[in-house]
Order: sequence, then C-alpha cells, then structure tokens
Amino acid sequence: MRESGTDIECGDGWFDLLDTLCGRLQFHTDLDGAPRVVALQIREKFGTLRFYAEGADEMHGGMIDVAQAMSERICRGCGGRLPCLACSRTLAALRTAGTR
Ligand SMILES: [Zn+2]
Repeated sequence: MRESGTDIECGDGWFDLLDTLCGRLQFHTDLDGAPRVVALQIREKFGTLRFYAEGADEMHGGMIDVAQAMSERICRGCGGRLPCLACSRTLAALRTAGTR
C-alpha cells in the first residue's frame, strides 16, 4: 500500500474503515505473495466510498467491495451509524452558508 500521491477526499468518519482496508490489503500481499495494491484515488461519491486501485487481485477486490458497501452505513463525518442527524445538520448548514 503506497500512501504518497494518493488523492484522498473523504471525512474522518471513514478513517477506521480505510485503515482496516489498507491493512488487510497489505496483509494479503505480504502473506500470500499477492500483487501490491496501489491506491490511485479514494473519494466519496453519492455518499459512499469509492476506492480506486491498481494491482488488486480477486481477494483484494472483495475486500474493497466490502469496504465500499460498509461506507453506506457509516457516517463519513463522524464514523457513527447512518442516518446521522448531527452531521446532516452540519452539512445542511454549510450548504445554506454557501461554503459547499
Ligand atoms: Zn455523523
């Protein structure tokens, strides 16, 4: 897992999810001699995580798929369960203020 040069645009709420994903991707590479996964872009799209990577084999792909699916249930603002009223209010306020 190479972190440098990766474009990461998402909230802190997904930190544990991404940290676990990256750890498991590397673990599979180290243990099974699988290809090294390089994250190209990590971002939020339509409220869910999108993890674009190259070098992922079938098992890596499955891990990425689960992480992306989990992101639909985790608030990207705070890591709490969705729906998250606190963060949706904050986001709505930011939109109203015209900063987003
Ligand atoms: Zn939240």
